[in-house]
Amino acid sequence: MKPCLTLAALAALAALAAAGCGAQTLILGTQGQYLLTVRDAVAPPGQEVPLVARLQQGDLLRGRPGHVIRFRQGDQRLLAAETDEDGTARVAFTPDAPGDYVFTVEVAAAGLPDEPPEPRDLLVACRASDTPLAVVDLDKTVVASGFQTVLLGNPEPMDGSVEVLKRVAADRTVIYLTHRPDYFGPKSKDWLRTQGFPRGPVLLSTVGSFLKGSGTYKSDMIKALKAKFTRVEVGIGDKFSDVEAYHANGLTAILILPVPENATAKDLQALADQVAALPEAIHVVRGWDQVEAILFAGKAFPPAPMAQQLRAMADEKAKQEAAESK
Ligand SMILES: [Mg+2]
Repeated sequence: MKPCLTLAALAALAALAAAGCGAQTLILGTQGQYLLTVRDAVAPPGQEVPLVARLQQGDLLRGRPGHVIRFRQGDQRLLAAETDEDGTARVAFTPDAPGDYVFTVEVAAAGLPDEPPEPRDLLVACRASDTPLAVVDLDKTVVASGFQTVLLGNPEPMDGSVEVLKRVAADRTVIYLTHRPDYFGPKSKDWLRTQGFPRGPVLLSTVGSFLKGSGTYKSDMIKALKAKFTRVEVGIGDKFSDVEAYHANGLTAILILPVPENATAKDLQALADQVAALPEAIHVVRGWDQVEAILFAGKAFPPAPMAQQLRAMADEKAKQEAAESK
């Protein structure tokens, strides 16, 4: 399954490169010529984090070297660095106490032939190292649809996801961990904000980590979080590789299982086999009401009953298919 998703995403990127600037505005949520992306971070107090921003331009998103990028935290702090050949600028920042540090990141207009891109917010979530964390995927998890629709449409949130995540955020820090490449950062963050999701750092993959595949990328990111935080407790996503990564790293793993509407009896049977093969401790659910029941009512949704349900659906579907072929 993994190669297909990667191919679909790469095809979308190729389409983007071919389509030019107008499409870039539509797909990436950029305005004008430039794409400014920033990298959110999570860190315990006293630990240095790099503030990273990247300025790219044109249909092929080439990095723009030699521009000054400013990282401004209200009136309290102003840091600046010049972009390298890659278009990347970084400065070091050490949060001294827990809290959300929001930096406005902007490109100095000097030396830019066109209007500079809109400033972007970069969030450094500083938390005590024993703060409970919940890691949540975006596509088909808080976004009702998948990557392809996200590129062009204005996707709907999954039912109940906003409400349940608000409840989760009352005593945990929500970290949005997505395999989406980082140039979807501006669009992803705007969408989360407008839909009313609780604020949390949005961690996206770079092109390098994107090519490793979703499971490996997420496993690496969770390991990095666990090196700084003792309570990385919950992981929620829609991919088998993601929940396996959550589970292997000791998180309560919750799979929100997508069942394609047009699944054949054979597809459903294969999905049942895949679910049945999951470790017993992984929860398999169909929606956020069940996620809430796991996290707040101590309910369990082990794979076996879901596998059974899928087999019953497969039998039903097989009957329908047989009737239709007569
Ligand atoms: Mg997903």
